[in-house]
Amino acid sequence: MDDASTLERPVLIDVKDVSYAYPPESSDPRPVLSHVNMTVREGEYVAILGHNGSGKSTLAKLINLVIDDYTYAEGQILVNGRDVMSDDITEEEILDLRRSVGMVFQNPDNQLVATIVEEDVAFGPENLGIPQKELRQRVDDALETVGMTEYAQHEPHRLSGGQKQRVAIAGIIAMKPRCMIFDESTAMLDPMGRKEVVATMEKLNREEGITVLSITHYMDEAARADRVVVLSDGKIILDGTPDYVFDHAETMRAAGLDLPQCTAAAKYLKTRGVKLEGSLTSVESCAEAILKAWRERQRKEGACD
Ligand code: ADP
Repeated sequence: MDDASTLERPVLIDVKDVSYAYPPESSDPRPVLSHVNMTVREGEYVAILGHNGSGKSTLAKLINLVIDDYTYAEGQILVNGRDVMSDDITEEEILDLRRSVGMVFQNPDNQLVATIVEEDVAFGPENLGIPQKELRQRVDDALETVGMTEYAQHEPHRLSGGQKQRVAIAGIIAMKPRCMIFDESTAMLDPMGRKEVVATMEKLNREEGITVLSITHYMDEAARADRVVVLSDGKIILDGTPDYVFDHAETMRAAGLDLPQCTAAAKYLKTRGVKLEGSLTSVESCAEAILKAWRERQRKEGACD
């Protein structure tokens, strides 16, 4: 999505000057988040990066109201215009919020509740009181979206990690969310499972229009997002396109983060005098830039002959 079209979209999540500390064991709780400001627009795909303990999960859980102790919270988190941290939020509003912002966690085993795949996917919408006929349709559609239709009658515990995670995702899609937060949902998967889940996340965003917030440690995953937000010690230190963020190698390094391997390799080639232009954040764009530089050099060499 280009910047212009993104900026025209309505804001779905507006994090305004949020500071947060968990209830103290000591009398002086250390803030986990400090004056965080972040806006997510409808249909955006935003990756959140940060070293362990930088506050990524806490931010996601605050947005999704998974954390319910706001004793040490300041600021506002508006989801679709409603401040989820306000004291007067009702049970009904909380349910509504959980329906519109679904969360997928790291361990697929902890998210599957039923003994048959399709029953698992039906669990959420059934609890919302969706009528039987519509429920059937939602389950079928959700399984198709994640590419798990042929496993509808399988036992979840027999599936691979990537398949289990896709079933967990289907269970949320069946509740028709506007936004999905993935909290390191690929961290426990093998490379194949990771690929499957990343492809599913992209499909949900690009084809179904679902807003995606993806917390990840994988730079290649972040490079595919529309926007990357980097947290360090509870503060946002970078927020922009992957090109912008990965152009700040020193800031990333200071926050304990690497660049995507292809970006690091391309930057090294640049220091050796190779003229690389355009985006250098994905394997494809780096390969394109190197190919272009190589052709240009050949053309020049040909002209000198
Ligand atoms: P990240 O997702 O970036 O690894 P977290 O948001 O999980 O970071 O954690 C940020 C800080 O908050 C860490 O220091 C962590 O120990 C602390 N923390 C996380 N959850 C809790 C909790 N339930 N109670 C107290 N401290 C917590």
